[in-house]
Formats: sequence, C-alpha cells, structure tokens
Amino acid sequence: MKTVGVISFQGDFDKHIERSRALGLHAVPVRDAEAAAQVDAIIIPGGESTTIGKLLERFDMIDLIRRRIGDGLPVLATCAGAILLADEISGSDQPRIGGLHISVRRNAYGRQIESFEADVIVGDSDWPGWQESNVLGVFIRAPIIDSVSDEVKVILEFEGKPVLVRQGAILAATFHPELTADTRVHEYFFHAVAGFPAQ
Ligand code: GLN
Repeated sequence: MKTVGVISFQGDFDKHIERSRALGLHAVPVRDAEAAAQVDAIIIPGGESTTIGKLLERFDMIDLIRRRIGDGLPVLATCAGAILLADEISGSDQPRIGGLHISVRRNAYGRQIESFEADVIVGDSDWPGWQESNVLGVFIRAPIIDSVSDEVKVILEFEGKPVLVRQGAILAATFHPELTADTRVHEYFFHAVAGFPAQ
C-alpha cells in the first residue's frame, strides 16, 4: 500500500488525511524531515502559506522536500500549498519550496469576496473523470495564478485563470478539493499523476 504524507502543521490537513484514507491510501501526518523522507507522495494543504513556510523552515524540511519533489515525488498542493510551490509569489520573499513554474498573487480575489464557490471548467486534460459532472471549486482567500510556463498544463480553470495545474508529478490547486464531497481531484492525483494502482 502506498503511503501519502500530509504536511500537518496548520490548515486543513485533517481533511486531506481523511480523504486519502477514504480512497484506500495509507495517510500519515508529516511534521519532520524524517517522516517526509519516507512517504510515497506528499500533500501540502491550504492554510496560511507564510506560517506553513516558516514552520517548514524551522523544522529543516524545505531542502529535503524540494529535493524529493525534484527527484519526482508526487505532490498535491492546495491553495497555500500551491503558493509554497510557486517559483514566483508577487511582492513576497516568504520562505517557499518553489519548483512549480508559475507566478501567483496571494489573496487575489479581494477583500469583498474572501471566499466563494464556483463551477470550474476543464482545460487541457482528457481524464475521463472530469466529464462526469461539473467540478465545484471552493475558494478561500485564494491566490490567482497569473502565468504558467510551457511545461505546466492547465487542467481546470475559472474566469480564464488556471485553478488546477500539473507539471509532471506536481499537481496544484488554488481551491480546496478536500472541502467538497467530490473526490476527483484526489483520485486524479493518486491515479493519473502519481500512478498508484486503484485500491
Ligand atoms: N491566503 C492564504 C495564503 O496566502 C491561502 C489561503 C488558503 O490556503 N485557503 O497563504
């Protein structure tokens, strides 16, 4: 059985652990480099990217995670997690992992609409699961992805902006797929991206 590690300092990590277990994975919280070194895939949850980044730094995990992702470790990053993987965060030099060739703007939907739900549309993906029904995105103080480089595929989008992108084994969402009953983003990650066998 494959083990997925969920970075569990802050934010809604418990929902990712529950979702992964419901899909048949062995899911464990990850709070130190030793645990991060052992997992077959990693999830970086939403929350506050500055806080999670500082804690990753304090517990000496940034270099190890960056190296493992560089070596092909599958990673699902949501919202704050996506910010932590972005190569460029507009106007911020906060600690980050980087490696995903996108540029993001934090809290970019503005103060009036701190959070909202909206149907997102399928972009560059022929994965059959997306055709079953609309995907509802829950956006909470979400970032906007302003640009992506050529090797980044835009899987789902909203209002002309990417909201789920893939670069090799990295999958990053600006919304929170763990907060709806729809399991497709996690299934896509485990099976289409990470290549884990169906349980
Ligand atoms: N606004 C948060 C940040 O900048 C992200 C919000 C979230 O993860 N829901 O880190």
